[in-house]
Amino acid sequence: MLPIRFFKMPSPHFLLPLHSKFKTQEMDRLRFISFASGSNGNCFFVGNASQGILIDAGIGIRTMKKRLKEIGMDFSDILGVFITHDHFDHIKSVKPLVEKMLVPIYGTKETLSSITQLQQMGEQFQAGQRVISKEEPVIIGDWRVTAFEVSHDGTDNVGYCVEYKDKVFTLATDLGYVCENSARHIAEANYLVLEANYDEEMLANGPYPYMLQERIRSNTGHLSNSDAGRFLADNYSEKLEYIYLCHLSHSNNLPELAYCTVSELLSDKGIIIGKDVELVTLERTSPSKLYVFD
Ligand SMILES: [Zn+2]
Ligand SMILES: [Zn+2]
Repeated sequence: MLPIRFFKMPSPHFLLPLHSKFKTQEMDRLRFISFASGSNGNCFFVGNASQGILIDAGIGIRTMKKRLKEIGMDFSDILGVFITHDHFDHIKSVKPLVEKMLVPIYGTKETLSSITQLQQMGEQFQAGQRVISKEEPVIIGDWRVTAFEVSHDGTDNVGYCVEYKDKVFTLATDLGYVCENSARHIAEANYLVLEANYDEEMLANGPYPYMLQERIRSNTGHLSNSDAGRFLADNYSEKLEYIYLCHLSHSNNLPELAYCTVSELLSDKGIIIGKDVELVTLERTSPSKLYVFD
């Protein structure tokens, strides 16, 4: 299974209009790549071959530029950056993005005002910010983006549902549990990025002090591998094509463990990875493949 679909072009002199039609279709396809995911920084691209949006800005601006270039993009192709919440691993580069790259920043009122204080924003941020409200979709280019409530301990916390043509891409990271609102949006997804932050045993036996462990386990903390797996197994729908596990902890998780825990819980319910749905763990500091969806 190749995430990027290669196909044989018809011979140009034979079917030139069809050739360009194929090319347009390919350019129009929904694409997703994770630039980084975890407590060191989060940044995701969702778009097509010519433009798109970013979700979170938790990596350095130079790395972001490099990653965009690798997929043939520039900051001028980014219509906006949607922020999930105000923790540093999600907002690191908001200031240069808005002040130097002139990319609009979307977030809830509470998140944007917290970022204003945390990063000592000036007038440019006031001009470059776009206030959004939960459950109120915004249209940006060809995308319809809806923020929804997630349970976490940032000033305000959202996940995003991105609709493009007849497909839905949903991202829910940094959540202590899957609340009803999140569950409703996750159920819509064809492509889902969901947190699988920690393995319960690794957290209990790992280096974190008890207080921090309790914060992570709480309803406003992070989602464990088995929380994610159980939720996915109980709420599987046939339209779900890809599950990407994100925000894996460096100290309290391993990609293989997250993958196995979730795939076992799914297979207990008769859901087979590779047949019913694809399962991918996103790396913490290196980019994923570029996924071009059908
Ligand atoms: Zn985070
Ligand atoms: Zn967080």
